[in-house]
Amino acid sequence: MKFQSLVLSATVLSLASASVFAGNAFYGDAPDANHPWAVHDQNRPQPPRVEPAATVGDAPSDAVVLFDGTTESFQRNWQHVQAKDERKADWTAQEGHLLGVGGAGYIETQAQFSDCQLHIEWSHEMQLPGTGQGRGNSGVFLPGGIEVQVLDNYNNPTYADGTAGAVYGVMPPAANALRAPGRWQSYDIIYRRPIVKDGVVLDEGSMTVLVNGVVVQDSTPLDGGGGWRERKAVTTVYPEQDRIRLQDHGNPVRYRNVWVRSLRPRPVDGGTDGRISAEATTAKRAEIAAEVRASAADLLGCDRMMRILEAYMYDNDPAAWSECDALVSAYVAGLQVLSSDELEKQRHPVTQLRNALTFLQRFSMIPKTYAPEQELKDLAGQQGWLKK
Ligand code: MG
Repeated sequence: MKFQSLVLSATVLSLASASVFAGNAFYGDAPDANHPWAVHDQNRPQPPRVEPAATVGDAPSDAVVLFDGTTESFQRNWQHVQAKDERKADWTAQEGHLLGVGGAGYIETQAQFSDCQLHIEWSHEMQLPGTGQGRGNSGVFLPGGIEVQVLDNYNNPTYADGTAGAVYGVMPPAANALRAPGRWQSYDIIYRRPIVKDGVVLDEGSMTVLVNGVVVQDSTPLDGGGGWRERKAVTTVYPEQDRIRLQDHGNPVRYRNVWVRSLRPRPVDGGTDGRISAEATTAKRAEIAAEVRASAADLLGCDRMMRILEAYMYDNDPAAWSECDALVSAYVAGLQVLSSDELEKQRHPVTQLRNALTFLQRFSMIPKTYAPEQELKDLAGQQGWLKK
């Protein structure tokens, strides 16, 4: 009687509230030693929604807008590096852009950032004096001080690893994709800081740069980060967070439409997406199992049983399997006393459960021989569900 109640309540509940996960939880390859999630895991959180801008190049909804053309946004987000009495001029917001002039020194963001996506646009006067590094030199310094060069080298040769779009002193851009001086240029920069701990290089960091939509740096290794006439060691330690800076190199330059987004952490930096360490995987699998198990508390009957089985998939905890085994055994025992007509109503949950058990066996999470699994197969055979 008790077992029949379980079966019947499960049937009612299944009809009333079909889980969005129904039939999909045991689907792709299972979690393993370096992947806390299954392939196509329906329990994996949905990516956060980001509302893109109406125009590509403008700030999406989750960006920190560092300069929108107004004096107010300049004053709120930026500060001069040098004190007032140590510099000869100021950066100013005018006519929708940020104007840097010689003697104003660097400016830097008030906030600090780490790995980020940075969009920034810049332009020069149509006809600038100077040659080589002396024509329209400025620079975008990512957190930690690694420079993406800004220069008017549209038609102005200089050393390649110091041209616009270069990771300065490290890597020339793959192409000179500049527009003619006087027009606006755009940079989209994806920056991953070097991560060195206790002298061990965990990730030397990388930079991807698009100049006017053209990829000129493609996950370029930072090779220690460069500098003027300087090659740094790959073991150079960079801060976890730092300000973004714009360079005063003595030449006037204009910037506009500056925004930044934080990037999700890499596995080496605490991220839990992708292939991660065995230690991090174990911890994450336990966390997922706890969340899934907690969500089972709101369920009854078959839905609850399936959630408990799902939770077990993540942590393979023996105590958790005891609970699974008890639920499955009780459910299968309940099925044994049903008439053929009543069993027919159980076809969907039985199929789900069989799929789950087969899945767990395939990934050696439960024994290859498991009596309730064989009993389910026998019942399915009796009902003619195994016919093709
Ligand atoms: Mg520069």
